[in-house]
This record gives sequence, C-alpha cells and structure tokens, in this order.
Amino acid sequence: MQNKKRTPLDTQQSHLWIIGGGIAGMAAAAFAIRDAKVPAKNIHILEELDISGGSMDGGHTPHAAQAWVTRGGRMLTDETYLCLWDLFSSIPSLENPDISVREECREFNEKLKTHANARLIDAEHVIADAAKLGLNTLHRAQMLRLLASKEEKIGSRRIDEFFDEAF
Ligand SMILES: Cc1cc2nc3c(=O)[nH]c(=O)nc-3n(C[C@H](O)[C@H](O)[C@H](O)COP(=O)(O)OP(=O)(O)OC[C@H]3O[C@@H](n4cnc5c(N)ncnc54)[C@H](O)[C@@H]3O)c2cc1C
Repeated sequence: MQNKKRTPLDTQQSHLWIIGGGIAGMAAAAFAIRDAKVPAKNIHILEELDISGGSMDGGHTPHAAQAWVTRGGRMLTDETYLCLWDLFSSIPSLENPDISVREECREFNEKLKTHANARLIDAEHVIADAAKLGLNTLHRAQMLRLLASKEEKIGSRRIDEFFDEAF
C-alpha cells in the first residue's frame, strides 16, 4: 500500500459547518474552538428553526437573552455525562467567571441534594396517579404503537397524528 504523506490541516484557516443548533451542534463548536483551535468566527451553525437550542428550552430565559435550559438536572451526577462535564469544565460560569460551569453544577448538587419522588405531578403539585389519568385501551395501544415505531417512520410527524383528540 502506498504511504501518502498528508498535509496537516491548518485549523486556523479551517471553516466548520455544523448542521443543527442543538446541544450536539453547540458542543461540537465548543470542542472545535477549545481542542482544535478553530477560530470561533470560522464556525457556522446552520439551524432551520428561528430559535436555537434544539430539544433544550432555547433562546429566551428570564435571566439571560442567550441561554439554554437543559432540564433533567436530577440526572447531572458525577457518574454520568463525562463528555458534557469535560466541556463544562472549560466554560466559565455566567454568575461567577472564576469557576467553571462544571464546578457550579457540582456546588449546586452538593447544596441541593436530589430528592425526586415523582415523575408526574398535577397543577397543585400533587403526585399524579398514572392509573387515574383517564387513558383508555385505545390510548394505551396508540402509545405502544408509537414506542414500537422506527425513528424514520416517525420523522417530523406531530403528536396529533399518533393520538386522538381525547388523549
Ligand atoms: C421531551 C424531552 C425530554 C427530554 N428529557 C431529557 C432529560 O431529562 N435529560 C436529558 O439528558 N435529555 C433529555 N432529553 C434529550 C435531550 O434533550 C436530547 O438528547 C438533546 O437535546 C439532543 O440534542 P441534539 O443536539 O442531538 O439534537 P436536537 O436538540 O434535536 O437538535 C437538533 C437541531 O438540528 C436542527 N436541524 C435538524 N435538521 C436540520 C437541517 N436539515 N437543517 C438545519 N437544522 C436542522 C433542529 O431544528 C434542531 O434544532 C429530552 C428530550 C425531549 C424531547
């Protein structure tokens, strides 16, 4: 096999085009800046929606104009999300730039111990009993059908294409 000599990529001159402005796209951009030294101005994130953030709550939080909320903080424990922690360890906290977002999350977790007793609560903050949600046999079948459907089949179909009005 011929051993072709490769010209090393000049990352300072490289442009990176990322499709999708969800956390994966934004993380790819941050890693490219931090680890590959691609200039931030050379990174272009193409997002088809008018709000970035993808499945996160994007764009407009009450506290900051450009911030995104990742829900599910109860699961942000030390044992999980190694890649995310690595990323956050080099991103300064908005509130205290002397510490990283990683440290900020750790401090928060230390202070406010997770104590989750329910996945579903009602408007009065009372734990909802799934058996009393009013789901009938058809709804259960519709849920099973959705669970068993392949991602390609689901595509961009809306929830009302899988469940009836009552659901
Ligand atoms: C209801 C719900 C609850 C969740 N709960 C949790 C949780 O508790 N904990 C947890 O860790 N995770 C949770 N997740 C999962 C987590 O939100 C996702 O795994 C994560 O946000 C996915 O990020 P992503 O960047 O890969 O994709 P996405 O967030 O889907 O972003 C993809 C982006 O690409 C854009 N895009 C797609 N195609 C194109 C195109 N052709 N051109 C331009 N733009 C395009 C989309 O508009 C979108 O903005 C939850 C997800 C949902 C939906």
